[in-house]
Amino acid sequence: MRPMRPAALLLLAIVSVNAGAQAPAAVQTPEAAFGFRMGADRELADWPSLQRYFENVAAASDRVELVDAGQTTEGRRLIAAIVSSPDNIARLDQIRANSLRLADPRTLDDQAAAGIIEKQPAIVAIGMSIHATEIGGTQAAPELLHLLATSNEPEITRSLNATVVIIFPSLNPDGHAITVDWYRKWKGTEFEGANLPGLYHKYAGHDINRDAFMMNLAESRSIADFFYRRWHPQVFLTMHQMGPRGPRFFVPPNTDPIDRNYDPLIWRTAGLLGNAMALTLEQDGRAGVLQNALYDYYWPGYEDSAPLGHNTVTLLTEAASVRVASPITVPADQLTGGRGFPDHQPTTTFPNPWPGGSWKLRDIVDYDLSAARGLIGAAARYRDDLVRNFYRMAKRQVDLGMKGGPFAFIIPPDQFDAHAARKLEQLLIDGDVELRRTLEPFRVAETVYNEGADIILMAQPNRAYVKTLLEVQQYPARKSGSQADRPYDVTGWTLPLQMNVRVDRIDQYFEPPPATRIDRATIAPAKVWGDVRKPSFYVIDGRGNGASIAINRLLKNGAAVSFLTTAMPILGYTYQPGAIMVMDGKGVREIVDAIARDLGLRATASSGRAPTDARPLGRARVGLYRSAAENVDEGWTRWLLEQYEFEFETIADTDIKRGGLRPRFDAIILPDQEAERIMTGNLAGTMPPEYVGGIGADGADALKQFVAAGGTLVALDSASELANSLLGAAVSDATRGLPPDQYLCPGSIVRLDLETDPLTYGMPRETAGFCAFSNAFDIAARSDSTAASTVRMVARYAKSNVLASGWLDGERAIAGKGAVAEVTSGQGRAILFAFRPQHRAQSHATFRLLFNAIHTSK
Ligand SMILES: [Zn+2]
Repeated sequence: MRPMRPAALLLLAIVSVNAGAQAPAAVQTPEAAFGFRMGADRELADWPSLQRYFENVAAASDRVELVDAGQTTEGRRLIAAIVSSPDNIARLDQIRANSLRLADPRTLDDQAAAGIIEKQPAIVAIGMSIHATEIGGTQAAPELLHLLATSNEPEITRSLNATVVIIFPSLNPDGHAITVDWYRKWKGTEFEGANLPGLYHKYAGHDINRDAFMMNLAESRSIADFFYRRWHPQVFLTMHQMGPRGPRFFVPPNTDPIDRNYDPLIWRTAGLLGNAMALTLEQDGRAGVLQNALYDYYWPGYEDSAPLGHNTVTLLTEAASVRVASPITVPADQLTGGRGFPDHQPTTTFPNPWPGGSWKLRDIVDYDLSAARGLIGAAARYRDDLVRNFYRMAKRQVDLGMKGGPFAFIIPPDQFDAHAARKLEQLLIDGDVELRRTLEPFRVAETVYNEGADIILMAQPNRAYVKTLLEVQQYPARKSGSQADRPYDVTGWTLPLQMNVRVDRIDQYFEPPPATRIDRATIAPAKVWGDVRKPSFYVIDGRGNGASIAINRLLKNGAAVSFLTTAMPILGYTYQPGAIMVMDGKGVREIVDAIARDLGLRATASSGRAPTDARPLGRARVGLYRSAAENVDEGWTRWLLEQYEFEFETIADTDIKRGGLRPRFDAIILPDQEAERIMTGNLAGTMPPEYVGGIGADGADALKQFVAAGGTLVALDSASELANSLLGAAVSDATRGLPPDQYLCPGSIVRLDLETDPLTYGMPRETAGFCAFSNAFDIAARSDSTAASTVRMVARYAKSNVLASGWLDGERAIAGKGAVAEVTSGQGRAILFAFRPQHRAQSHATFRLLFNAIHTSK
């Protein structure tokens, strides 16, 4: 657990020879190491030099050890400095092991726990930034490290005796590198401090901190492993930045609503530590600090909310931003309020308004350092409570789990979508949830389960995490004035619904059958049936998202692949429409074997004549549109297509404007983005000229030509408005112009009814989709008589009881309306999605709608 680079080891060796044991080599100040004071105007420390600084301090100081939390998406190291007193550093392995023991009270009695608690420092992790342009925390990190590594002030000595501080200089080193490169490139020009044209993470951009439970990204998996299996901190602070015109700084407590699954001690401790941070900030004379407003912790997918279900107290700070490293001026009359924070007048949660004026990166560094010092000091003073309550919360969760309601969740082995079921199980396992695979059949009330069903018994320390992810959300909507109080993020995420995985909630106690804990989710291999000696074709189960991988693998190999369009019984098993038919040929047998084995899709070999009720599938040439204006949905779409083995090309505004698209592409995908933004892109003057402008009128024309000439234009959520207008407004949006009291769906799971159609193959007739202020289609009663298009609704919102999880006001606005429309025009078509079928690469239940749009485009 102590990876140290050879260079660092060497340096340590030299130190001990030259300086002896009593005097550690001098730890360089950040100013000496970087050549400027951290946070100096227009200066940024880049990632290689930050990493080097952390390595050097670790090598020179007996208070610091450097560890790797894992890899980033682009292969950088997620480094963390472990800082504590030399005595604690000498027994880090024991401290770490004790933290893991306290995290699981099932293996301890109270007396043994008390023995540990007495000597156990509180583990406090600090992520100095995750959103890469919110760069102040990362720039402050060397000063925080230097202070803790060198200061002999009594307060610091006391703190290091009582805590282990884990400093992540950044939770997104890839994004830090992108941001620093961009800033330096334009420094000294009129575009100094301009927004990035793309994402500050290869796939997720700003959503890098919306992946904490789904764990699609390497960073999320690394951090989860580090937190839940290696260190299990009692406290985790993550530092962010917000807009420039609000308060100068935010510290906890956060605002309502809260997720009611977590122990109340979580919120009390967050309040205590938030107040300690605020106190230090005031002592240091930092004005404009706000508490108890703006940010809630309802959604569990942030880096700083997923650990709540693991009994870690998480804290968020937000500093007012500058233009990356360039100073700004905010006159008093331009200061604005926000959610639960009407204006800049003094209140109990905002006693010291900032008067306006100049605001610099160094200010952010100063505020961040005050907050971190306030937190570390308080964690030391309340060490005993933090460590004891960590154990106490875990114990309470286990006790609650024993009582039932729910007592367990059961994931049966026979799933519609084995691929999605595996992903759900794996993300639970990566989230340190205990899954047990049953070894024999068993019964709960009237239900008989086959052996191989996986049980999650709720008497486990991370019970709240399981409950939050698997149960249905009922968002505690409150009104403030006439306005409904909207959440900061989304209101519904129920994973069994979103992923179309059957998970049974069992409320009452039952006697669990023999079972073993599993540490890796797998798909049960399926068989290839029938006469495999000399087949003429194979039929493969086409259900679920794995079937799209199967299709892509077969097509890539040059095989002749079709969807069956009618049900087909072979050897006592009936394949449904949408099953995959592939003619035998070179290498096909091996691929079919691998599909059955790895994707769990049964197949049957047949030597008869191939059925003619089939729709041939081709190797579609796909263009994925990437706007010059930042679009997180593009990043997630790109990630998803890569994961499911689609071949595609990224296309920019210039590619579209140039026209001649049909000879190059069968399908063009427009990720969710406002029509206006697609058309105009970044505005002139805001960005260097090469990043200005959208597809424009020429591009719109080119897309129209593309459809007329037989292409498939796939438009997701708000991009559907652009596609629709190109095709003469074939559909109308029933939600257009409705006020919030008539339609409000701020990120919820809704029920969808599907037609039987190639676009819904591999899906059940009813499923769940993610709706966030999404559209609802009607067939337009058009006056535009020139439009020669026809519309088919392929998916609709349910006729009633639309809401499956979260919050939906005014379901009448969308009930029974179109959610996916296929509009044919000329020789081609557009597939309009009223919602995002691939939202954050989380909504597995609707991935196939997007995948089928591609499969059927050739
Ligand atoms: Zn942020």
